[in-house]
Amino acid sequence: MSEKYKKIKQIYEGKAKKLYTLQGHPNLLLQEFKDDATAFNAQKRGSILNKGIINCELTTYIFTYLGKKGVKNHFVEQISPNEMIIKRLKIVPIEVVVRNIAAGSLLKKTNFKEGHRLARPIVEFYYKDDALGDPMISDSHALAMKIATEKDLNTLRQMAEKINSLIKPFFLKRGLKLVDFKLEFGKDSSGKIMLGDEITPDTCRLWDKKTNRKLDKDRFRFDLGGVNEAYAEVRKRILGK
Ligand code: UDP
Repeated sequence: MSEKYKKIKQIYEGKAKKLYTLQGHPNLLLQEFKDDATAFNAQKRGSILNKGIINCELTTYIFTYLGKKGVKNHFVEQISPNEMIIKRLKIVPIEVVVRNIAAGSLLKKTNFKEGHRLARPIVEFYYKDDALGDPMISDSHALAMKIATEKDLNTLRQMAEKINSLIKPFFLKRGLKLVDFKLEFGKDSSGKIMLGDEITPDTCRLWDKKTNRKLDKDRFRFDLGGVNEAYAEVRKRILGK
């Protein structure tokens, strides 16, 4: 724990992360990444070797990169191998999924076969609600539920598309195809929407450019084996260690 930041209390424990308030910093939080892994709305549970450290380092690296490219995000600084300081956001309860290649739940909604390269990226909204199992929603659902305004939804879509256009080539340069990924956004104290949460192999599908080998959480979800190795491989390709 760094000298600069003193934890006050844990305010949230999710499947992969914990959040703490900080003494003297009302607009910041400490985000701790755990090794715990869950899938299928937490029906499947396990642990992935060094995942907390790997996901903290990857999020630090990618959010710093996005920040330099003008994508406002919650990252402030990494303070230990698996802890970072973030801006405190009021989370918009919408998960934004961007897809470049057909996989996962898209295969149940379309006739695309796994691996089909989409003619253009697809952006989808899901309502963040565990009890409902995070259902996919349209703009009109979000507006009727008053969880976002029309302007917010357009901002989410535009930011998601911009992030995709930046990280797709970023991963490809490192030998990884960005199949799809999930983003979360929130509003800072001035009401400005920014990117929050994480960008890691927990939240992205990443396939090896040459072999299409899955190097992400699907190895855990579907018991494909080599889970720890896949996370270590992504770390090596992006962080060089
Ligand atoms: N995803 C996520 N959290 C979720 C749901 C999805 O990080 O709660 C990510 C997932 O890892 C994938 C993308 O979002 O990269 C699209 O997931 P999909 O809708 O295909 O659902 P899944 O097949 O993962 O249930």
